[in-house]
Parts: sequence; C-alpha cells; structure tokens
Amino acid sequence: MIINVRTSQGQQFIEITEQVKKFVAQEGLQDGAVVVYVPHTTAGVTINENGDPAVVRDILHAVNKLIPVHGDYTHLEGNSHAHIKASLFGSSCTILVENGRLQLGTWQGIYFCEFDGPRNRKVFLKALR
Ligand code: ZN
Repeated sequence: MIINVRTSQGQQFIEITEQVKKFVAQEGLQDGAVVVYVPHTTAGVTINENGDPAVVRDILHAVNKLIPVHGDYTHLEGNSHAHIKASLFGSSCTILVENGRLQLGTWQGIYFCEFDGPRNRKVFLKALR
C-alpha cells in the first residue's frame, strides 16, 4: 500500500501512525510486522514521542545545528543537508504487530520526516506475516 504525504514546509515531521494502524486493520494482520518504507533520498522515517509536539520541534532544531542547510557542500542541487539528514534518520522502520495491534510504546508515534519540502511524497507499507 502507498500513503501519499503532502508536506507544506521545508523541514517537517508529519505523524503517520493512524494511517499505519488503518493499514494493519485493512490487512487483517494479527501477528507479524509492518515495514514503513520511504522511497526518497531527502526524506526519512522515525519513531519518537507524539505526546508533546515540542519534541519533534526540538529534534529538527538540534539536527539543523548539526547539519545546517547551508554549509561546505558540493552537491549541485543544493540540498545536501537534506540528503545527509535522510541517511541519518533512515528510510524505513519496522513495527511489530501482535493481536492486531502495533506494538508501539505509550508515547511513540511514527513520523514521516521531510527535509527538502514542500513536496508530494510517498510512503510504502508492507505487512510481514
Ligand atoms: Zn540532491
């Protein structure tokens, strides 16, 4: 299954937990895992706290201190910072499923990570049985 994600900012975390839950229900997956895969080189996926929106804001803030948008980069497209961030965050997450439920912790949410938006993005979901 493919989720379409429309990002509205240059850098942005968009929670996709509900879409992944819906996918698990649609698939009737009881025991196994879901792979969430992002087929882009300037976006990623991560799992982190969804209780306080300040957390993802702080993650982006800290990441931009480590990897500034403008730096000593040579890639002609001018978006090297986004490629580096995408590699650090990674392009997939695997979430275990038991009794039809994602085995996420109380405060864990799944986030699509945009580093070079705004763009139309895709996220692939695959159920492993
Ligand atoms: Zn590029």
